Amino acid sequence: MEKLLLIKYGELTTKGDNRNYFINLLVKSIENKLVGINYEIENDYYRMFIHTDDIYMVLDRLKNVFGIHEIVVAYKINDSSIDSICTSAVDVLKNASFKTFKVETNRSDKSYEIKSNEVSRIVGAYVLKNINDISVDVHNPEVLLNVEIRREAIYLYYESYVGMNGYPVGTMGKALLMLSGGIDSVVAGYLSIKRGVSLDFIYFESIPHTSLEARNKVIALANVLCNYGNVGRIYVVNFTKIQEYIYKNMKSDYLITFMRRMMYRIAEKLAKNIGANAIINGENIGQVASQTLTSIKAVNDVTNFPIIRPLATYDKLEIIDVAKKIGSYDISILPYEDCCTVFVPKHPIINPKFDVIYSEEEKFDFSLLENALNDIMVIDIPTKEESNEYL
Ligand code: ATP
Ligand code: MG
Repeated sequence: MEKLLLIKYGELTTKGDNRNYFINLLVKSIENKLVGINYEIENDYYRMFIHTDDIYMVLDRLKNVFGIHEIVVAYKINDSSIDSICTSAVDVLKNASFKTFKVETNRSDKSYEIKSNEVSRIVGAYVLKNINDISVDVHNPEVLLNVEIRREAIYLYYESYVGMNGYPVGTMGKALLMLSGGIDSVVAGYLSIKRGVSLDFIYFESIPHTSLEARNKVIALANVLCNYGNVGRIYVVNFTKIQEYIYKNMKSDYLITFMRRMMYRIAEKLAKNIGANAIINGENIGQVASQTLTSIKAVNDVTNFPIIRPLATYDKLEIIDVAKKIGSYDISILPYEDCCTVFVPKHPIINPKFDVIYSEEEKFDFSLLENALNDIMVIDIPTKEESNEYL
């Protein structure tokens, strides 16, 4: 009897002809997670099996992989006789601690000579006779022993773990995440990765008004997203001259509106250059003056590119819950300020007007955007250990 892991795909199963594409990317995600462990993956259309001696170490790492619905510790029996199923069931259960149990059988091999209900009844009776002090509970058993009868083998299992669900990273192509050092954008990134998007990152900094620590914080946040299978690059934009120009020359209550319009313009160009299909950010309806619906409309006006805002309708507390769950919260609340916070006007406009925006922008020196784009610094995301050293 071999002990192995059985992976159930979940939402992938609805993907028809694309299924192989999804499964191949899931295999890739799993391979990335299991570096350094000996294992072998066996795929089929419905399930994946992982053969390894390090079952629980693999299990632990797979808990962070998107595209997995359920992970099951299974036992494979090659002798499909009912006697062999019965004795194996006792072997499997004798070390488990439980008082009540139930057996459920699934017979995908319809040529198997005994019907599912009958298999469950025979195995249940055998287990009851051979393990002391247990009883059957069909409604709410502590242990549910599954017997899966398949053409190639029989599988027994009772121990299962919920997977992350979602889609394997990369199945939906690439997007560019506007990543700041705050709480929100990294959460927006996590939710996007969950839906199969792979991310590169754009970060706007205004040195010397912002510090290197602020940049390192963003690197550490990008690194958190690597735990969920994302491998991407950080594009650091030197935003200093643009911000200073706006600050000195343009209408002060519109400062954030202009700044964000410039960010979107740069992000769009970069997204196109790197083959990203969308820009993602952590904007949230009403959170601050620059995120009222009219403000979002005023900023979005500079582009036709898809802008995805996964957190648009979240409450701050809901966002914080996710941030704590994914391990980004403690990094986000470190004090270093990024460029938005440094240049906040006293009374930012809540309902910016297009005629004001257009006439003010006539003053802007658009060559600054070109310069910033030509001057982007690219950082490959470092390992967790390396990025901790930054902080
Ligand atoms: P966060 O907590 O993620 O920083 P926020 O509540 O501070 O968000 P804003 O500063 O208004 O909100 O920014 C809204 C979104 O714009 C951010 O979630 C992020 O996606 C993007 N953004 C803001 N500042 C920067 C920056 N310096 N570099 C890159 N993206 C940024
Ligand atoms: Mg911010």
